Amino acid sequence: MKISSSATPFGLYHTPRMLCACCSAVTVAHGCFRLDSSIQGEPQLPGPAHPELGELIELESIIRDGGRHLDVQLACEVSSGGRKFPVHVIALGNPDPAVPVVGFFGGFHGLERIGAAVVLAYLRSLVSRLQWDSLLHRQLESVRLVFMPIVNPGGMWSGTRANPNGVDLMRNAPLDAREGAPFMFGGQRVSSRLPWYRGAQGAPMEIENEAVCAVVRREFFGRKFGIALDCHSGFGINDRIWFPYAHTALPIAHLPEMHALKEIYDQTHAHHRYVFEPQSRQYLAHGDLWDYLYQGSCATPGRIFLPLTLEMGSWLWVKKNPRQLFSRHGIFNPLIEHRQQRVLRRHLSWLDFLARAACGHQHWIPTGDAREASRQKALKLWYQREVG
Ligand SMILES: [Zn+2]
Repeated sequence: MKISSSATPFGLYHTPRMLCACCSAVTVAHGCFRLDSSIQGEPQLPGPAHPELGELIELESIIRDGGRHLDVQLACEVSSGGRKFPVHVIALGNPDPAVPVVGFFGGFHGLERIGAAVVLAYLRSLVSRLQWDSLLHRQLESVRLVFMPIVNPGGMWSGTRANPNGVDLMRNAPLDAREGAPFMFGGQRVSSRLPWYRGAQGAPMEIENEAVCAVVRREFFGRKFGIALDCHSGFGINDRIWFPYAHTALPIAHLPEMHALKEIYDQTHAHHRYVFEPQSRQYLAHGDLWDYLYQGSCATPGRIFLPLTLEMGSWLWVKKNPRQLFSRHGIFNPLIEHRQQRVLRRHLSWLDFLARAACGHQHWIPTGDAREASRQKALKLWYQREVG
């Protein structure tokens, strides 16, 4: 296991003067993680640093259990209310740039905790299988898997969609919607006190987004093929798989590949309930980070980078349990335990499918005439037009 050298001399999370809830000046040594950058091999992880952020505790428990199989780095640290939270990035599988990569991201929106939970459940499942699953080890020779389950721990800790600066990370990239985004909801620069705040005009991206960009550039842009999945919740009744663009209703250059991916999923998971579509079919938005990264990936000819968003339809959970409407978390997450378990179960096969699809991408990526045929089918399905 590698621990980033950016860890502070006092541990990953805080200095003695910047204490978290579980620490005091006298208990800092035993109450928090102490990951000195000089430690070689297995780090000393005496206990959880943030008992009130269950997702972070689970992630760090997975990191401990994964041990030498995981490449763990500190992408950045985020301060909120006098506390510091790490944003971890975990990778496993073959680091060779010749193999494809799949990235699993969650927790961009602090209120949508089920997104982080889905990514954590998949990572936990993989780490458990590493103990005995020889087929998984064979698979990991052919693919790199990257996880960033809690991108916005400050927002998650404070129970806000935005990050601690009041910025909506999915409205924060330097990219404007072309054809007019919905008022406010599509991104606004009026005030950080209002939702969907993009950040000040001309300001750099927020630290969490810069960290995601650095990970994508490092892990994806050096490879020929990659798929990213970012897990969210809160929109509509159906579970949706969205792909770019969000800033324009125009199709992306890799529409044939997106359609081919949908086709092999339809064929192998005949009764799935996802609505697979470009995000622009639902609404346009300013500052979409995946649009921004996708456009960056297209600068290199021949590279295929397919960013996807899993948007879990939370309105059904509210419909089945209307009391959730009175809870801020209830609008975005299943609050009843059996429903949460069902949600976690349902999506694991989708995440696992993506890892397999990346491994075998050379067998389903369309080329030549088949690519053009795939593009025509996609235009007809999603854009109601055919292009000669
Ligand atoms: Zn979201």
